[in-house]
Amino acid sequence: MVLKAFKLRIYPNQQQQDYLARAFGHTRWVWNQMLMMLLARRENLPKQWYLNNFALNYLLTRLKAETPWLREVDATMLINATRDLHDGFTRWFKHQNQMPKKKVRRWAQSATSNAVNGNIKILDDHHLQVPRMGVVYFRAGRLPAGKVKQLTLRQNAAGQYYVAVLCECENQTLPKTGKVVGGDLGLKALLNLSDGQIEPLFRYDKRLSKQLHEWEKKMARRRIGAKKAIARDKHEHPGNVRTLADFANYQKARRKVAAIKAHIANQRADQLQKYTTWLVRAYDLIVLEDLNVKGLLKNHKLARAISNASWGKLVTMIQYKCAWYGKQLILVPPAYTSQECAVCHARNHRLGLSKGQWLKVREWDCPNCGAHLDRDVNAAQNILSKGLKQSA
Ligand SMILES: [Zn+2]
Repeated sequence: MVLKAFKLRIYPNQQQQDYLARAFGHTRWVWNQMLMMLLARRENLPKQWYLNNFALNYLLTRLKAETPWLREVDATMLINATRDLHDGFTRWFKHQNQMPKKKVRRWAQSATSNAVNGNIKILDDHHLQVPRMGVVYFRAGRLPAGKVKQLTLRQNAAGQYYVAVLCECENQTLPKTGKVVGGDLGLKALLNLSDGQIEPLFRYDKRLSKQLHEWEKKMARRRIGAKKAIARDKHEHPGNVRTLADFANYQKARRKVAAIKAHIANQRADQLQKYTTWLVRAYDLIVLEDLNVKGLLKNHKLARAISNASWGKLVTMIQYKCAWYGKQLILVPPAYTSQECAVCHARNHRLGLSKGQWLKVREWDCPNCGAHLDRDVNAAQNILSKGLKQSA
């Protein structure tokens, strides 16, 4: 059995939207209450202030007894908020992140429900049964046949609703094709394969950049206007000060910006999903470079193109899809893959060019054996042979 997550856009009715607003608010409230309690304990009992997850859940039961309105949302959402807090502290103890902070209301929010006795069901291609919400409509999506374990309901900054469905599915291995491939992660292409196939990199961000820029400008301008009006309010009628939520034009621009950004991210994720599925179907063994994406992102010129290419995501997707479908991914160290001839394995020392000039060379002839080489395909072939050596 394997766990698979699927993201769907959902269209809750007004009543369901009201429920979700309460659910997000209540889970945030529980997080904050538990956090404040723990911080108070830390002050008062410095030696033994922390409580384990079991003790936190016991306190949650007490909290619910005192505040009956918490019962209007799915109980597992509150348990998950406590568990997230516990995870946050556990990571902090291991120095993996900062100490959990108080949550303030943001435009984007989420809550997670666990399935209890099969109370979360996929009813058909367009309907999902959600605890306390009833039947929720979704437009489209490829849903697996499996038992639903968990749902994360989410509202993004554009006001759109999504759900991530976590399913337990039969482990389906894909038929073996006997084919192996090396891939060079690119900036102009998403992936250059050693057999010459290239997946173009769609610049979704560029296609929508003008529109995004226009709305970002409007948003900034309207925000300044609203802030000024709020400052005037404080002066003129302090009892009746508006908040940013009261400025409809600013809110419209803010949602529009968020919607364009979500659109770009969705298009990109869709390309990655389709491409990685094709890749693990077509090949039994895939070799990629082990790139330190974080390190590369520090280089600002490359940063935008790299984050658009979503290298990290691409590698992660191939990794888990290989695990799902019984295929293999090998990551190899990235040194010299572009400077070596894949035919005779001589290094070309950048043909004596500077780093900048060498980056622009798309095709070259090997000075040692004379082979005419395409830069990207040659690199992918080197990556493949490194991987085959590593797996042998
Ligand atoms: Zn050569």
